[in-house]
Amino acid sequence: MEQTIVAIHAHPDDIEFLAAGTLAGLSRAGIRVIMASMTAGDCGTVSLDPTEISQIRVREAANSADLVGARYYCLGFKDMAIFSDDASRRRITEFLRALRPSIVITSSPEDYMADHEATAVLVRDACFSAALPNYETRHQTPATPLPEIPALYFMDPIGGVDRNQRPVIPDFVVDIEESFDLKIAMLMEHKSQKEWLRVRHGIENYVSIMQKWTRERGALAGIRIGEGFRQYRGHPYPQDERFQDLVRKHLHIPLALRGNDESDLVPAEEVPTQPVVTSGPELEPDTAELTGIADGRMGEPVDGVAPSPWPEDRSAPTRS
Ligand SMILES: [Zn+2]
Repeated sequence: MEQTIVAIHAHPDDIEFLAAGTLAGLSRAGIRVIMASMTAGDCGTVSLDPTEISQIRVREAANSADLVGARYYCLGFKDMAIFSDDASRRRITEFLRALRPSIVITSSPEDYMADHEATAVLVRDACFSAALPNYETRHQTPATPLPEIPALYFMDPIGGVDRNQRPVIPDFVVDIEESFDLKIAMLMEHKSQKEWLRVRHGIENYVSIMQKWTRERGALAGIRIGEGFRQYRGHPYPQDERFQDLVRKHLHIPLALRGNDESDLVPAEEVPTQPVVTSGPELEPDTAELTGIADGRMGEPVDGVAPSPWPEDRSAPTRS
């Protein structure tokens, strides 16, 4: 059966920073890869209005996914307005049921900002809900509940550290040497963020900061460049290593977790420092409504954002 991996992060460029190398490799190997952002990144600008920047960023994210044959969806939330509530969980649940992944990869539950952490909680709980037959998403044409909870994994936090700058150690690091050029090309599709990160966050070159982080994650496992992941181990989520199996050839355990003297060999890399905001902290009042759930418009673009098609390729029959 075709395997599907769904990667969901908060903003349109987060996946490129944290997991694009791994996803590019899997897509090239024939795995069906879906990339989704919760928001269109409507606050990631200092010069455009929310609709303008959203249209640009959705297009950039779709272009990035195109580079590796993946599909991109925007889930229609607003920056700084992602919350774990009833309507949001139903929306993410419907999305998962429609895409039918066996593996879901999402943001780190501990990260530098609210959207990232809220996304992790929402996706975690939607994975659970997606396999509950009696849980209604209230979509007008709901997809069939999943036969089982997908295996859930977390990406690294931005910069590899939590809110207190403490390092977050992944369970495993994927060597992305073979797909690093693609990861760079994908990130470079997010052209609108170059100016935003320079003006607001003092980052002259967002590709360089990604390369620095990627080297630091690689160093954790004694390799040159890598992306780290952690498996969610909570009951009753799958505990098998289906994601690790897909990347086994490129998988490395962090030296600190190997339980022997090898941990003494951890390279003396500089500790990751400043986490970087990839979408803006600017608050936009009254943008938290999650509309369209009851009337079937769920997943439609908001405020004129370029269309991000709700998945129609539902492989399972709908309920009768
Ligand atoms: Zn982000």
